[in-house]
Amino acid sequence: MKYEAVIGLEIHVQLNAATKLFCDCPNRPGDAPNRNVCPVCLWLPGALPRLSQEALEKAVLGCLALNCTIQNESAFDQKVYYYPDLPKGYQLSQHHKPLARNGWVDIVGPDGGLKRLCIHHIHMEEDVAKLVHETEGRTPISLVDFNRAGTPLIEIVSEPDMHTPHDAMEYVKALRAQLRYTGSAECSLEQGTLRVDANISLRPVGTEVLNTKVEVKNMNSIHNVGDAIAYEIIRQTECLEKGEPIVLHTRLWDPERRVTAPMRAKFEGPCVPDPSVAPIVVTDVWLDAVRGRLPEMPARKSARFMETYGLEPDEAAAMSAERDLSEFFESVVERDLPPRKTAGWIASQLVPLLRERNRSVGQTHLTAERFAALLGALKKEIVNTQSAREILGQLLDSPDALEEIIQKGGHRQLSDTGDLETLVDRVLAAHPADVADYRSGNPKVLGFLMGQAMKASQGKANPKVLKALLAQRLG
Ligand SMILES: [Zn+2]
Repeated sequence: MKYEAVIGLEIHVQLNAATKLFCDCPNRPGDAPNRNVCPVCLWLPGALPRLSQEALEKAVLGCLALNCTIQNESAFDQKVYYYPDLPKGYQLSQHHKPLARNGWVDIVGPDGGLKRLCIHHIHMEEDVAKLVHETEGRTPISLVDFNRAGTPLIEIVSEPDMHTPHDAMEYVKALRAQLRYTGSAECSLEQGTLRVDANISLRPVGTEVLNTKVEVKNMNSIHNVGDAIAYEIIRQTECLEKGEPIVLHTRLWDPERRVTAPMRAKFEGPCVPDPSVAPIVVTDVWLDAVRGRLPEMPARKSARFMETYGLEPDEAAAMSAERDLSEFFESVVERDLPPRKTAGWIASQLVPLLRERNRSVGQTHLTAERFAALLGALKKEIVNTQSAREILGQLLDSPDALEEIIQKGGHRQLSDTGDLETLVDRVLAAHPADVADYRSGNPKVLGFLMGQAMKASQGKANPKVLKALLAQRLG
């Protein structure tokens, strides 16, 4: 490796405030086009913007969650550029006086240790309109949807602290987890409520220079962030080896072709102080009140889970990573269930099922009470592990009571020795060669026969009873 990559990320996060940043229009960009508009966000001449208090509070919560220092005074600038998605010719953004500075998040480095990645600053800005490109007959046309114009955003600008695609992916994950905890933002790359732009440059290993960077946009998943950066590092390495200079420009990640391609340059002008929105002056009293609304964050919660519930570090990290799941975990444990077993079931069974459904636990029919009842039925050996997994899926998807699901699905575990004896005898009679094999000293056959017996019970046999019976019958 002759070169080291230097990576900085600029991340736009859409705040989930009820209204837009400077008007009372609903903050719902996905509604039918141009439904949520008014003279302010249509940028009609003379309309005056008025800053949303809710958006400001949500922005501050996000900044605090990312360990930033809120500035006593911040202010909006007019960021001048000309493009049809911005008919007034400038975007209201904070350039000279951002809302917050000097934050950080910790990620797990490749060696397993913690690595601190720094945030340069966070500023507020309004989103611009959305262009929709279509054809009318054979004529290509572009339509403008103003629902998104004026949507409240924060832009989080990192220090160029990252050196690998892994660093960048972990940074996005850590930052997303922190922001989601605050409840200020949904942070979905797939839905565009979190957008990542990566600045990438190369330098000879061992030097500290910052060389010309290339900006890459349009990555709509964490994996795409990693892949786009990896591709760009290889592309720039090849340029340098051929003796071609790196030129400052913007490229778009193409997820189909899995390459970055140059993008048409936008005209960008200066940033000048905006006279229409008053500066934001933050008092200590107000800031303390907002700070008081910050929930217990994942790192502290994880430490508490280890201390209170005796979880291992990786279990505690998994149980505290998402706020709703961490609250679900605690609520189950409070119903007198063993914490480590509960954590194990949530991590290995529940989380994959939620992922398959692309839902959070709150969006399903599963409650802590229902989950606790299922684990209780498992403990009392009313159902076995295999059935419990199947039942869990049904508890997610239907409001039916646990008892009803067990009854209807015939999930009740077979523990009756008499019934199981008959079943074991039938299985042994059907596999005389394997029985002989076992008796001549091959213990591995027991596993096979156990599997056959379990299958014959349609997965419902109590494995402990079944195993004891098999061993007994085989002598
Ligand atoms: Zn409006």
